Order: sequence, then structure tokens, then C-alpha cells
Amino acid sequence: MSGRLPEQHCTLAIIGSGMAGMAAALFAGQRGIDTVQIGMTGELSFASGLLDFMGVHPIETGRVWTDPWAAIKALIKDCPRHPYASLHPRDMRAAWAALVGFFNAADLPYHLQSGRNLPVLTPAGTVKPSYAVPVSCLNGVSAFENKARCLLIDFEGLKGFSGRQIVETLKPQWPGLTTRRIALPDANGEVYTEPLAQHLELPEIRRRLADRIRPHLDGVEYVGLPAVLGLYQPFEVYRDLEALLGRPVFEIPTMPPAVTGLRMRHVFERHLPRLDVLRTHYQQQVLRAAYSAADGFRLQIGVQEPVALIRAQNVILASGRFFGQGLHADRNRIVETIFNLPVRQPPGRTAWHQKSFLAPQGHPVNQAGLEIDAHMRPVDPKGKPVYPKLFAAGSILAHQDWMRMKCGSGLALTTAYAAVKALEQ
Ligand SMILES: Cc1cc2nc3c(=O)[nH]c(=O)nc-3n(C[C@H](O)[C@H](O)[C@H](O)COP(=O)(O)OP(=O)(O)OC[C@H]3O[C@@H](n4cnc5c(N)ncnc54)[C@H](O)[C@@H]3O)c2cc1C
Repeated sequence: MSGRLPEQHCTLAIIGSGMAGMAAALFAGQRGIDTVQIGMTGELSFASGLLDFMGVHPIETGRVWTDPWAAIKALIKDCPRHPYASLHPRDMRAAWAALVGFFNAADLPYHLQSGRNLPVLTPAGTVKPSYAVPVSCLNGVSAFENKARCLLIDFEGLKGFSGRQIVETLKPQWPGLTTRRIALPDANGEVYTEPLAQHLELPEIRRRLADRIRPHLDGVEYVGLPAVLGLYQPFEVYRDLEALLGRPVFEIPTMPPAVTGLRMRHVFERHLPRLDVLRTHYQQQVLRAAYSAADGFRLQIGVQEPVALIRAQNVILASGRFFGQGLHADRNRIVETIFNLPVRQPPGRTAWHQKSFLAPQGHPVNQAGLEIDAHMRPVDPKGKPVYPKLFAAGSILAHQDWMRMKCGSGLALTTAYAAVKALEQ
């Protein structure tokens, strides 16, 4: 490796800036660990902003659980190699408390009721079990549970949201749900969620929007809107609109990229670099990695060409799956992209997928990934850690299907917590 690159030395390098990488950076920062974080933050923009812990098990029957802890207990019994099986409930609770506390302190309030998944409305008109929910979505839970008289506002020209689709899907179980499409102040043609959310941060625009909604509120108990109520100051925007309308208001996350995911991304990007011990390289990647027992890890980082060398005693690998690019599938096999770690995977490409795309049990390829030991270290086929100080967290781990199990964020943040804790042991 070139010795001419500028160097940074650190105790811990975190590779990845998705939910797992961000959570690891937060937890490491809170423990005062001298850390460098590398990775693109784009993946977070695709998250819905709803933080799932454990909602569905077994996936083949699609059983939905109200109590995520009970679901985890059943999961571990049936799937003892799921990453949750190697975590302690006390650490999982601590991880949730730290993340939600961080969001709350950053004016992005989340509601978490220990022991209960909440039924949250999605833009498809389905209801999904989620654990930590933006406070701005919470009234939607009580409106749905009470089947209250609720008006769903839709906007002319808005992409990624259809009030009509939601109402059509939910009407059989929720007759009191109606929708109305209204014109936005100062908007013509196509409207996108992110600029609209920024537009609604102007008090004058909110006042004019409320004036257009108010005539339709006769007999309405709740008002639902697509999640566009502010990007940088969402809680202020939400509270103000609620006061202007004189009704409980709630947001429904839109299709990705959702403003609710962008808000999380902005909070991480703005507040994590303020941690004294954390240095971030958010628009760079690890291009090459090497390890020696004498020097520890050497990571060349950059976009196309290396621009710096990170020398780290420990690494947490939180580089995601295929979408995040932590895993790559060629014609024959699945590889881990940075360290070429052994990937647990079906024996051949023909075994990656079920015959039916919609097979209820999901596809074996979705549970491919890194196997870890009790200290969160990737292991070889004999169960031996590949590197003594390399840890892994998040969706890159094997034996889980976060999308079907509804455990995406919970898996990311609880394994990140365990990885940070493990490196101190
Ligand atoms: C469309 C969508 C909707 C979702 N909805 C929900 C939801 O409703 N509820 C929920 O709980 N979760 C949801 N999630 C999942 C959640 O947001 C996380 O994506 C998931 O938990 C995995 O997180 P991760 O950090 O492990 O991986 P990723 O989010 O994939 O992040 C991987 C990171 O690694 C980085 N990386 C990869 N290679 C390198 C390299 N060589 N060098 C440096 N960095 C690298 C990437 O740039 C990225 O920052 C959703 C995700 C998506 C994509």
C-alpha cells in the first residue's frame, strides 16, 4: 500500500453508514472510543423511518406478533443461528434506549413502548408492526385502532403517495377512513416529497395549506397526511399544523426515498460528527483493506482513487447486503466485498431462490451472509474468527431475512451495540 497517503490512526474503524454503521458510531462515540467512520449515507434515504424490531415469525405463515420479545423468544427456539440468538436482552434494551434518546435529543422524537409493536399505516395501505415510531405517525395508530373518522389528505401532483389506494385497501376494516386530494399552495405539475417537506417549513405555506384543508373537516376526528411535514424541523412543523387544524394529525411514510428516512439521515449526519471522538468520511468508501498482526488494519479510502489511509486496531464491518454493496453475487457465488470473508450461502446458484418468486418462506439467498462467533467476529467454516479484531453488524449477517421478519433496524442497531461492546472485551 502507498505510504504517501495522509494517514489517520484510530482505535476503531467502522465501515458503513447505513443504520448499523450509524448506530455503531453513536455507541462507540458514547463510550469515548476513538473512531473513524467510512461509508456513503445514501442507503438511509431508502429507509421508511419506522424502526422495526421483530414483527413476523415464522415467515412462511406470516404470523404477526404484538410483543417483539415474545417473537424473539420463539424465533431463537426455531432459528437458533439467527443473530438475535447471540445477543443479551439487556444489551438490546440499552441499544434501543440509546438510539431513541439520541433522536429525541436531536428533535426527531420517537415513541417506543417496551414490549409492544405498534400497527403503523404504510403507503401501500397495509398495516405493519413496528417498534419505535416517529411521534408524527403515532396518532395514525390510535385512529386505526379506534377506526375513527379520519380524513386522509392527498396532494395534486404528489409522487409516491396515493390516498385513494390506502382508503381502497383499508375500507373493508375501516369504513370511517376517507380521502381528499387538494392543490398545494404555490405548486404546479409534479411534486416530490423532499422539496415539499422543505417548503412546508415556511410558516406562511403551512397557514395556507391549513386554510385549504379546514373546509373539509366537518365530523373528522383525525387528519392523516403523507410524511412531508418538514425535513430539518419536522416536530415543529407537525405541531404547528396540528394547532392550525385543531385536530390530531398524523403522517404516513411515503414510498422510498421517504422523508421519514431522510430525517434520520440528516440527524445522523448533523449530530454524530459532533461527538469529540468520531471522525467521519461520509462520501468515501474503503477501496482496499489489509491486515497484519503487527500493524492491525490498513484501509485505503476514497471514491475512485485512494485519498487517505486509515490505520485501525479494530474494525466493525457494517457494509450491508447486496443493496449496500457489502455482499456481491457473481454468476456462481456470493462474495464479501472488502475482506473476502467466507460467506455462508446455498451450495449453488440454482439453490438461491425458490421456484416461486412469491414463496412464503422467502429465498435462501436472503439468509446468506457472515457467520459470527459469540463476540460478533466473522468466522471461517471451522468456526474460528478470521481476524481477532474484526467484528460485524447489521444486515450483512447470515441466518436472517430482515425484510420478511420485519427486524431491519432492530437487527442493525442491536448487533452494532453488541459489536462495540465486544471490542472492549
Ligand atoms: C427500501 C428500504 C426500506 C426499509 N424500510 C425499513 C423499515 O420500514 N423498518 C426498518 O426497521 N428497516 C427498514 N429498512 C432497513 C434498514 O434501514 C437498514 O437498511 C437495514 O437494517 C440494513 O442496514 P445496514 O446498515 O446493515 O446496511 P445498509 O443500510 O445497506 O448500509 C450499508 C452501508 O455500508 C456502506 N458500504 C458498503 N461497502 C462499503 C465500502 N467498501 N466502504 C465503505 N462503506 C461501504 C454503504 O455505503 C452503506 O453506508 C429499509 C431498508 C430499505 C432499503
